[in-house]
Amino acid sequence: MNKILIQDTTLRDGLQSPGISVDLEGTLAIAKALEDLNVDIIEAGFPASGSDAFQSVNQISHTIKHATIRALCRCLEKDIDVTAEALAPARSSSLFLFIATSPIHMHHKLKKSADTVYEQAVSMVHYARRLNDNIVFAAEDAGRTNFDFLCRIIEGVIKAGATTITIPDTVGYLCPNEYKQLIERLRTTIPNADQAIFSTHCHDDLGMAVANTLAGIEGGARQVECTINGIGERAGNAALEEVVMALKTRKDYYGVEVNINTKKLCKTSKTVSQITAYPTPKNKAIVGKNAFAHESGIHQDGILKNPHTYEIIDPNEVGWDYDRIILGKRSGLAGTRHVLEQYGIDRYDDRIHKAFLNEIKNLPVRKLPVLPGTINQILEKIKKRG
Ligand code: MN
Repeated sequence: MNKILIQDTTLRDGLQSPGISVDLEGTLAIAKALEDLNVDIIEAGFPASGSDAFQSVNQISHTIKHATIRALCRCLEKDIDVTAEALAPARSSSLFLFIATSPIHMHHKLKKSADTVYEQAVSMVHYARRLNDNIVFAAEDAGRTNFDFLCRIIEGVIKAGATTITIPDTVGYLCPNEYKQLIERLRTTIPNADQAIFSTHCHDDLGMAVANTLAGIEGGARQVECTINGIGERAGNAALEEVVMALKTRKDYYGVEVNINTKKLCKTSKTVSQITAYPTPKNKAIVGKNAFAHESGIHQDGILKNPHTYEIIDPNEVGWDYDRIILGKRSGLAGTRHVLEQYGIDRYDDRIHKAFLNEIKNLPVRKLPVLPGTINQILEKIKKRG
């Protein structure tokens, strides 16, 4: 059990981000990009939430051939029926049932007792299992749920046929070690825990979604729910690209495998960012425009001598294709040699490189970093001076 299943929820939790709305065409384009990326499971949407959502899950189920299509539904017969219908064309499908289990959610939102929630969860998992073999149960707001009640409801739904159990930190409240211990304790306390896969679902309200997801894996979770660029409700979800590259880069530490085609990470990130009109910050790990870019002289010199001096990932590994060496006031000879070579300047013509660096030092802030147009202007000026 060293394999980690990747459930991408960009099309469900991700598209619930405030301000994002994507049409059917855009939804299908994202689904295809996720299939190309080789995610194990695409959480495609919430079919019972409206006819557009139904259409979109139904079309994705028609189109996608290599990933399991999973769709969210409440613990209600009518939701389960509609969801199963939307998923019918899929080669491999799965229903994702959820109900809130924390006191605050049960009391204020559902207005139901714990016993009623228990009965509803168990009977609806049982009902759903008759329609589909692949049933996930999520205890919404598990992070703030009473531990004994969480054990009781999970034991009940596993007995009723749930094959995966999601432990959502719905509000991004837990700290990594707490989340790890929660999953560990659930797996060792619940008598039939070995009959289900445990899954993470972490939110980024305190900036800990990725750390919590990785901690969940250390606690024994073997599926993770995440989104491209970390989009999602409020501050978002765990970013798929960060979780995957942490597992790959630190395989010595985590000792687990993922199926993701990492060379497609940057391309998928751009696709999702364009379709959702949600820009990716420049300093975003793995996929940001500056994730492997260097401007200061010492760093440029180190990178050009040996990339491992300042990089722990080969940018080709994630399909990163922005400019790596950025010229600015902090740059030095090594960086200018590298860049100006692409403009036909001999790398050992130090007279030109030094003159060029001098010109950069005098540029106004608005001209920085030095872009191709400015590089050409400076080179012209130096040539004219002779
Ligand atoms: Mn969520």
